Amino acid sequence: MKLNLDVVKSLLASPKDIVILSHRNPDGDAVGSSLGLLHYLKSQGHSVKIVLPSDYPDFLGFLPAVSDIVIYDDETEDARRAIDQAGLFFILDLNSFDRIDKVSAGLDNDKRPRIMIDHHMYPEPIADEIFSDTSFSSTCEMIYQFMDDLGHAGWVTRDVADCLYTGIVTDTGGFRYATSARLFRIVSKLIEAGTDDYKIQDSIWNTMTEKQLRILGHCLANRMEIDPELRTGIIWLTQEDYKHFDIKRGDTEGIVNYVLRMPKMMIAAFIHEQPTIVKMSIRSKGEMDVQQICKAHFRGGGHKNASGGVSFAPLGTTINKFKNLLPDYAQEIDTAYHNFNT
Ligand code: 5GP
Ligand code: MN
Repeated sequence: MKLNLDVVKSLLASPKDIVILSHRNPDGDAVGSSLGLLHYLKSQGHSVKIVLPSDYPDFLGFLPAVSDIVIYDDETEDARRAIDQAGLFFILDLNSFDRIDKVSAGLDNDKRPRIMIDHHMYPEPIADEIFSDTSFSSTCEMIYQFMDDLGHAGWVTRDVADCLYTGIVTDTGGFRYATSARLFRIVSKLIEAGTDDYKIQDSIWNTMTEKQLRILGHCLANRMEIDPELRTGIIWLTQEDYKHFDIKRGDTEGIVNYVLRMPKMMIAAFIHEQPTIVKMSIRSKGEMDVQQICKAHFRGGGHKNASGGVSFAPLGTTINKFKNLLPDYAQEIDTAYHNFNT
């Protein structure tokens, strides 16, 4: 889905109060695309606020203006005031209002214009203008495209570039997934704008704490189950694990991917017990589509190779449910494996 650029240009023709919204548990792409767009829109004379439902992970603390982000859970009044005053909304890196829950209260029937930019599958019609394309690695890549489409690639400053580069690196796992010739062309422009590739990659990847390394060790040593036939690995964490290791949001980032380091594995699931729900992150390789699994069984979705969902059953029941549905996908797993290796 493409934007009507004339409509977008006229919306941006005069200075506006703009609010940028992105999803709960924001990742590098949500935060990077929001901040990249903020720096660009500010350079065009707009007043811009970013409202995120929940806090961003510490490792993103180096991004320019990250501390100005309004976190709805912590600063609800400020967030509400910004939303009330907005004359225009950008909705980034999300395809449904479910992913911003309370923040979207009242927006369903709100008449103020909304522009959505997102690379997830099955976008819901939650904006007047929608730029949705799953061929993009990240929303950050799309923000560059958006600026270029507006004839404003020249406004990609160092700050814009650093933010967009960060989301591209995190959403592609360091240029391992969802890359394309277009992506590398865009990345070359970001580096020309001054982004220090080495330094940002270091800020993203080499930021683990001792605690996080020990949690990773615990997961791999004691909480991993491998099914060689169905080419699937499950890693799980209990509420007791959360207490014992004092696990906070972000401490388990990336653990799921370790399963896929085994060449014969096609699906990796990380299933963890939260105070009231069980959350899961599922990853896959090649043609194996885990988005459909999350959508069909765990009220979730996402991308073909990276999806998530929730369960309201206890942890053990959820793990068993996941294991029991895998045989239904045996054929698909096998085909994906063989095609991946030919
Ligand atoms: P993660 O596993 O890193 O939390 O999320 C991976 C991807 O899955 C995200 O980009 C997001 O699109 C999707 N995702 C994660 N959790 C949910 C969920 O509860 N609902 C939906 N619809 N998508 C999710
Ligand atoms: Mn993204």
